[in-house]
Amino acid sequence: MHDTHTIAPQTGSAFHLKKGEILTVTDPLGQQVSDMVLFNQHDFGEKLSSGKSLDFEECLLLTTGNYLWSNRSRKMMKIIADTNGRNDFLLAPCSKETFEIMYGYEGEHPSCLNNLTTNLAPFGIAQDDIPTAFNIFMNVQFDLQGKISVLPPTSKAGDYVQFEALTDLLVGLTACSAEDSNGGSFKPIRYSITPADTGGAGYD
Ligand SMILES: [Zn+2]
Repeated sequence: MHDTHTIAPQTGSAFHLKKGEILTVTDPLGQQVSDMVLFNQHDFGEKLSSGKSLDFEECLLLTTGNYLWSNRSRKMMKIIADTNGRNDFLLAPCSKETFEIMYGYEGEHPSCLNNLTTNLAPFGIAQDDIPTAFNIFMNVQFDLQGKISVLPPTSKAGDYVQFEALTDLLVGLTACSAEDSNGGSFKPIRYSITPADTGGAGYD
């Protein structure tokens, strides 16, 4: 019996993940990004670090077999499965300002940063403490000159990424709110938590 949760389109969630537990993040309909941030559950000063992860993994594109590292140079998670194989760790969570600066959007717009802030606040995390997210299913392309393009995800319905927690974690997770990151439409994200010894995605 697995504990499966659905994050509604353009919303987020936050939860604890104990050392040894496995988090499965699924794109149930396809082409939907999910931003994930991590904190050491016992000391929020230690958190996910894009810079350290790309450095130690010696790779810009992290997938099965790669680790997600903290700002204190410790492993927080191992990616143990990735049926899609394309994730991003370069871009910060989309925010209200993202839509203003990049797309000329005026007024309120749902965003990953806002959804992470709202869901992590009850645990004691402030917005300024939220790091660059590991952007699951996000399809960020770059050329040899470094030019970046955000393309629709290559993920298909049912694709998933599995992470093993290597320490006790506080996890923030979203269903991304950016039009360009999600092929122009907003879908839900599903996640489940299973003990390490059972493994498997285990969806109904
Ligand atoms: Zn987003």
